[in-house]
Order: sequence, then structure tokens, then C-alpha cells
Amino acid sequence: MITGNYEVIKSINTSLVLDALRINDELSRSDLSRITGLTTGTITNITAKLLDLELIKEVGSSLQSSGGRRPVLLRLNDDGAYALAIDIRTTSIEIRLVDLKAKIIYSLKKEGTFSLDQGTKLIIDTIQSLIKKEDIKNKLVGIGISIPGWVDYETGKIIKLPNLVGWENYPIKQELENNFGIPVYIENDANLSALAELWFGKGKKYNNMVYVLVEDGIGTGLIINQQIYRGSGISIGELGHIPITNSKKQCSCGNIGCLDTVASAKAMIDQYLGITNQEIDYITLIDRINHQDKDAFKVFKNAEESLGFAVSILVNILHPEAIIFGGKVIHDVPSFLPLVKEAMIGKALSPMLQDTVIFSSDLKDSNSILGAVALVFQTTLQPYSLNSI
Ligand SMILES: [Zn+2]
Repeated sequence: MITGNYEVIKSINTSLVLDALRINDELSRSDLSRITGLTTGTITNITAKLLDLELIKEVGSSLQSSGGRRPVLLRLNDDGAYALAIDIRTTSIEIRLVDLKAKIIYSLKKEGTFSLDQGTKLIIDTIQSLIKKEDIKNKLVGIGISIPGWVDYETGKIIKLPNLVGWENYPIKQELENNFGIPVYIENDANLSALAELWFGKGKKYNNMVYVLVEDGIGTGLIINQQIYRGSGISIGELGHIPITNSKKQCSCGNIGCLDTVASAKAMIDQYLGITNQEIDYITLIDRINHQDKDAFKVFKNAEESLGFAVSILVNILHPEAIIFGGKVIHDVPSFLPLVKEAMIGKALSPMLQDTVIFSSDLKDSNSILGAVALVFQTTLQPYSLNSI
């Protein structure tokens, strides 16, 4: 059974009020009525309930009001609702409890490649210990999960994590909801990285954009009309599995020639091993690329040229307003993005390329975990966007 503040927030009218306050910061009751289209009576009832639950607070009077009684303004009480974000990656699991402004209340990050048993034990134990505190349990409106792979949106079941064996077909949403009675939302990491840009990053001003995530795999998240685009389900944006290279190496998807086999962090490490017979870790690879080690740079050059080629295809097909690059490789190798952009010249159609803004994410934090936070608040504060386009 799902209880707590979620029961109140799930009403469409209530979330209209909460979302108006999220966007506008401070509003009077009559502003709320005008913006949401709800009657003043409905606004009075809803705001009374929200004040009672400490999800909003009164903050004095409006300065713009001229004469007569000045209306009291309302704003979100940042500490009134919490989201729990879980970021499952190939080399770590991070769990974070945040308030409405994404301020961290609790955070835990464990490095390592987790089996299903180890990973779910860590997640369940952590949630259990957090919601022992009555205050946290009552304020928690949802759990957002980022996964590096495919999800069945109907059931919330993980379909496959290409670089994490043993997690396939795990009904993570159902398990956690049965255990804790809190709504669980699950989404692919590239889509969440795009959503994080829309909520917290430089993507706020774009209606249509593509986020390119360069990690151990390469994925893209698509935002169309400010909503995550999910196609017909399971997965979209599998840029890493476009067969555009001459590589004869079999990809984790089973096909040959995928971009992932040359341009992902994992692929560069494998190729370096192939050339030099040296097994190195990611940090060493990055250090050697940045110091222009001949073999590391050769591998890197192949990666950025292939990525530039693949992203040119995206520009020609989608012509988005912006393409935002993120992920550890983009952040750790400063020359990566300028070289990718250079590689796109002469491949993407020139007027479209000139018209598309291309930059790297400047979110200091991990995009996928911020996206998991946005996912919870989007699906609770804006239920009308529950069904992505
Ligand atoms: Zn592939």
C-alpha cells in the first residue's frame, strides 16, 4: 500500500498548484487560481491541505499589491518532500536522499561491480534504515532509479544491462514498491541525463535536445517538447549500437561494427590492450590520452572521429536545438568534445550543424542521479507529464 504525502500530491489539481509554485517561486492564492485555471475555492482548499502537510509555506505579502489588504504569498517548503535517487552503474551504486531543491539529506556511494544480490541488498538495506525515521518516511514521495540499460516501462522490470551481467528480467519496481509502499520510477541513464539538463542544467531553455552520454557505453537521451522521448518502449537512442565502424570486434549486443566497440571508455581500454599488450585501468588510460601517449592517442583519435561521425547522423536526422555531451570521458578528456565537433564538419549537413548548439554539460554532479531526482519530482509534481511522448 502506498501512503504518506504521495497520496495528497497524486491529485492532479494539487500537483498543478505545486508545479506552479516550483516554476514561479512565490505566488498568491489569486495568482495560483489564474495560472492553474482552478477556482479560488479549490485553491483555498488545496493550499490549506498543503500548508497542513508542510509542503508549502506562507511567506508574507506581495510587494506589487497596491492598496487594500496585501495577499499572502505561498512558496514550496523545500524540506517538505523528499526523493530517493538510486544510480546503478557498471562500476558503482549511489543512493541519495534529497529535498525539493535537490539538496542532499543523505548520500552513499559504493564503488564496485555489483551482482544482482549484492546490489539489491545494498539498496534495500539502505532504504530500510532511512525510512526507519518516521519523518523521512512521511516526506518521501518516490524513488527514482537510473539504470545503464533497458527497462520495460509497463512493468518497471529491468530488461537488460549490457555491461552488468545477472540483472536481466529483475522486477525492481515491483520489488521495491512491495517492500516499502513508496512509488518507484525507473529510467535509462541517458534519458535521465537529458532530464537532469532540462531541470537543473543548461538544457532548461531548449524544447528539443539530445544528450550524448559517453561512459562504458554510448547512449543518447532525447527531449522533445520538454519531455523524455521513449519511442514505443524498451529503449531508444542506442547510438552506441549503430554499426558504423570497421571494427570486427563483437559488441555486447551481439552485432559487429557498433560505435560502442571503438568509442566507449571500455572499448578504448580494450583497444589499448590490443595494441600494446598492456592491461590498464580507466584512470591510467585518461592520463595517457591527456599526456598524448602515442598509442593511447591513436585509440582516442579513432574514438572521437567515430563519435563525430555518429553524432553527424543525429544532426541530419533530428536537427535538435542543442546537443549536450556528458559522461566521464567527456569530462576527463578536455580535448574530446572540440575534436568530436571538428570530426562532424563535412559529415553533418552544414546549415543544420551551424544551427545546432553543441556543448558539454556543466552540471558538477552526476547527471544520471540528478535525473533520477527530477524523475521523481516530475512524476509527482507534474502528473500530466507521467506519460512521456
Ligand atoms: Zn552493439
